[in-house]
Amino acid sequence: MDSTINFGIDLGTTNSAIAKFVKGEVIVFTNPQDYGRSTLPSVVSYKKDKITVGSKAKEFLEKDPKSVVGVFKRKMGTTESFKIKAINESRTPVELSAQVLKELKTFVNTGESIESVVLTIPASFDLIQSNATKEAGYQAGFKQVVLLQEPIAASLAYANMKKSSEMSDGQWLVYDLGGGTFDVALIKIKDGEMKVVDHEGDNFLGGADFDTMLVEKFLIPKLNEKYTFNNLEDDLKSASGKHNAKYYILLRRAEEAKILLSAKSAAEVVIDGFEDDQGNEVDLEITITRSEFNEMIRASVDGTIEMIKEILTRHSLRSIDLQYILMVGGSTYIPYVRQRVEEILQVPANCEIDPTTAVAVGAAYYAATKQREVSKEDKPKKQSAISIKASYNKASKEKDELFAARITGNTDELFYKIVRQDGGFDSGLKKLSTRINEDLPLVDNSYNFFTLTVYDSQNNVIETDMEAIGINSGFGISGQPLPEDICIEVDDYDNPGLTRLLLVFQRNTVLPTKRTLPFPLNKTILKGSDDEVIRINVLQGSHMSLPEANKSLGYITIIGKQLKRDVSKGSDIEITVTLSESQDLTVSAYLNMADQEFKETFNPKERHTPIDLLKEQVIDLSEKLDEEIDQASESEDYETAGTLNKLKLELDNVSDATESLTIDDVTDKRYQLEDKKRKIAQEIDSATKHKRIKKVKDHYFETKDECEKLLDESGNDHERKTFNDIVGQEQAFFATNSPIKIQEKSDELSSIVHKINWRTPEFLTGIFNWLRNDQPKMNNQVQSKSLIDAGKFAIESQNWDRLKEINFGLIDLLPKDSKQQLSTKIGFGI
Ligand code: ADP
Ligand code: MG
Repeated sequence: MDSTINFGIDLGTTNSAIAKFVKGEVIVFTNPQDYGRSTLPSVVSYKKDKITVGSKAKEFLEKDPKSVVGVFKRKMGTTESFKIKAINESRTPVELSAQVLKELKTFVNTGESIESVVLTIPASFDLIQSNATKEAGYQAGFKQVVLLQEPIAASLAYANMKKSSEMSDGQWLVYDLGGGTFDVALIKIKDGEMKVVDHEGDNFLGGADFDTMLVEKFLIPKLNEKYTFNNLEDDLKSASGKHNAKYYILLRRAEEAKILLSAKSAAEVVIDGFEDDQGNEVDLEITITRSEFNEMIRASVDGTIEMIKEILTRHSLRSIDLQYILMVGGSTYIPYVRQRVEEILQVPANCEIDPTTAVAVGAAYYAATKQREVSKEDKPKKQSAISIKASYNKASKEKDELFAARITGNTDELFYKIVRQDGGFDSGLKKLSTRINEDLPLVDNSYNFFTLTVYDSQNNVIETDMEAIGINSGFGISGQPLPEDICIEVDDYDNPGLTRLLLVFQRNTVLPTKRTLPFPLNKTILKGSDDEVIRINVLQGSHMSLPEANKSLGYITIIGKQLKRDVSKGSDIEITVTLSESQDLTVSAYLNMADQEFKETFNPKERHTPIDLLKEQVIDLSEKLDEEIDQASESEDYETAGTLNKLKLELDNVSDATESLTIDDVTDKRYQLEDKKRKIAQEIDSATKHKRIKKVKDHYFETKDECEKLLDESGNDHERKTFNDIVGQEQAFFATNSPIKIQEKSDELSSIVHKINWRTPEFLTGIFNWLRNDQPKMNNQVQSKSLIDAGKFAIESQNWDRLKEINFGLIDLLPKDSKQQLSTKIGFGI
C-alpha cells in the first residue's frame, strides 16, 4: 500500500468531486448515479427512512423543498442548522457536508477504504470554517484530514498538466466563479515553491445568483405580463406561498437556459403546468438572448474585476505583471465572463483546465506529497522471500536522486532492474546484493515513478514487498497561508478603559507558526482573589480594525484564585500563540512572578453570531462612526467627513436590515450583515487612519526627544545604539503608514526611557518620596518602615541599585486600592 494520502476531495458549495493520484496521474472518479459526470451536486435530501445526496436530492426540491438542503458550505463554521421537515429534526452544515463526503466515497470503485484525505477549502476560510471542514471529514469517517486551499489546488492541477518549464518563477491569478461563491487569489512561484500571496472574494456571488436573476428579471415579469397574478413573486419565493414548488422548477429551467447560453446565442424556457389567479392555464415560451443575459450579469462580473484590481493595487502590481488568469469554477464557462475579464484587465484568461474538476485534481496531486499518518497495522504486509527496505527523498528538485535499498533474503542468482514509468530510464539488469544504490534521473516539474523488479536467472519475476518508487519533482507548497491576521487584545494606554489589537501573525504568514510576546502586567493580582482577572483574547481579522470588529477564536481567563503567588504590576506575562498547519490554535500564558503556566488548545468549529449581539455591535459601531464624523467636521477635514458619511449610509442600511431580523431568523442574512458590518468597520478605520497616524507620530517624536535628552545625560552605549538603530529606520516605518508599526517603535523608545529612568537618582528618589508618603497605608508596617529606613540610607550612600530594589519592595506592600491601577479591561499591554 502507498505511504502517501493520494485522495483529494473538492467539497464545493454547489458541486463536489473526488480524485485519486495513481502512479503519476490523477483520475477523477465518475458519479455512479449520474452517467458521464464526475461531480456530485452538494445537495442532501431527507425522507423518513432515507437520505439522498446529489442530483436525485436536487430533483426532490421540486416536490418537498423543506426536506432538501443545499448551499450549506456558506454556513460552515456557524452555529446555524437547517430544519428538515421530513424528519422533523435539524442538521448542521458539518453534518450535511459529512453526508456529501460519505456519498463521494461511493464513487471510488477500486474497493479501497479511504482513511486519509485532502479536503479543499476556499482561501477565504478562516480558522473556524477550516476546523468545521475538518470535523465534517472526521464525521464522514476519515481518520486523517489535511486541508488545502482551492486556488492552490487549481494551480497544482494546471502546473501538473503543463509539466514544462513554462511554470518557472512567476505569478498569476486564480479566478474561481462557482455556483455560490467567487474567489480570486494571487499565486506566486518562487524557487519551486508555490504560495497564495493574497486573496479576495465574495461568499454571496456565483452561478446560483445568475439563475435567480433570470427568474426575477425575465421569467416573473414575462409571466406577469401575460397572465394575472396578485403577487406572483411572493407566492413563488415564500416557503408558504402557493407556487413555492414551482419556484424551484423555474430556477432549474433558468439554470438550463443559462448553461445553453454558454454555447448558443439564444435559449428558450418553457413554463407550463399551473394556473394563474384567474384560473387560466399557464403555457409560455420565453426566449432569452445571450446579449440580454450578458447585460444582466454585467454588474456582478465587473464586481469581480474590481476585487482583482484591489489585489493588484495592494501589491503594487500592474496587470501586465501577471502571466494569465486561470479560470476555474463552472460559471467561467460563460463566454462573457472570460471575455470581460480579458477585455478590462488585458491579461489572457487561461481556460486550459477543466473548471469543474481542477480543484479535486489538484487536491489529489497534493495528496500524493502528503504522508499518511493512519496506522496500517490492520493491513498485514505481504510475506515475500525477498524483502526490500528502500530509502530516498520523495520530493526533490535535483536532476538525479539517489535511491538506496537494503535487501533481506537470499539474493544468490537474483537480478534487478529499475525502470522509469515513462520509459526514459532503464537501469539494465544488475546483480542483486544485500545493498543497492542507484542514481535515478528525474523529469523536472513532474511526478517520477520507477519500478524495481527482481528476476531470477531465467528472467522470471520474483515477488517482493517493494512498492513503486515515487519522487515528486513538481512544485512544493510552502505551507498554508493564514487567511486573516491573528491578533491579541491589549489595554490601550492612550485611551484608558479601552482596548486595542496587537498583531501576532500577519495575514498570509505561512503555517505552522509560533510567537512569544512578553507584556508587563498593568495590575496587581492577589492570589486567592476572585474579582481580579487577566483576560487573553485571541482574535482573527485585520489588526488595524477595532477589536469588536474581529472574530474571537478563544480566550483564557486567569483569576486570582488560580494563582499560587501574588503577581504584581510591572511583572511579566509571556504569551505564546502557536498555530499548527491544520489550524489548531494553542495559547499559553506564563506568569513570571508566580512561575505558573496556563495553556489551552482551541479548534473552534463554530462562529456564534446571536442576532442580539449583532444588533448591539451595529449600534456601537454607529455611535463610533457618528463621533468620527463630528471630529472630522470639527477639524474641517471635509474629505474624510464625506467618506464617513457615505459609510454612514451603508451602515444605516445594515442597521435597518439587522433591526428587521427576527431573533430566530434562519437565513444567511445575519452572516451577510455581519460581513458587511465588519467591512464597514475596516473602512472606517482606514478612512480615519491618517488621524491616528498623526497621533502616533506626534507621540513618537515626543518620546524620541525625551529619550535623546536622557541618553545625553545618562545613557549607555548599548542604549545609544538601540536608539540610533530605531531612528535610522524612521523613514522605513513611517512609509508603512501603519499606526501599529509606528507605535511599536515608540514603545521601543519608551522602553529605553524606562530603563534609564529606573537608574537615575532623581527618578528613583522621586518614586521613593512618593512611596514614603503612602507608607502609613502599607500592608506590612514593620517591613515597610525598615524598607523606608534602608531607602534613606541608600540615598545617603548613593546606592541607586539598592534604592531601585527598595522601591520595588515598597510598591509590593501597597494596598490593592491605592496601587495605581490603570483602568483596565485586559490586564496587560505595552
Ligand atoms: P462550486 O465550486 O460552487 O461548487 P462549480 O464550480 O461546480 O461550483 O460551479 C457550479 C456553477 O456553474 C453552477 O451555478 C452552474 O450552473 C454553473 N455552470 C456549470 N456549467 C456551466 C455552463 N456551461 N455555463 C454556465 N454556467 C455553468
Ligand atoms: Mg468550487
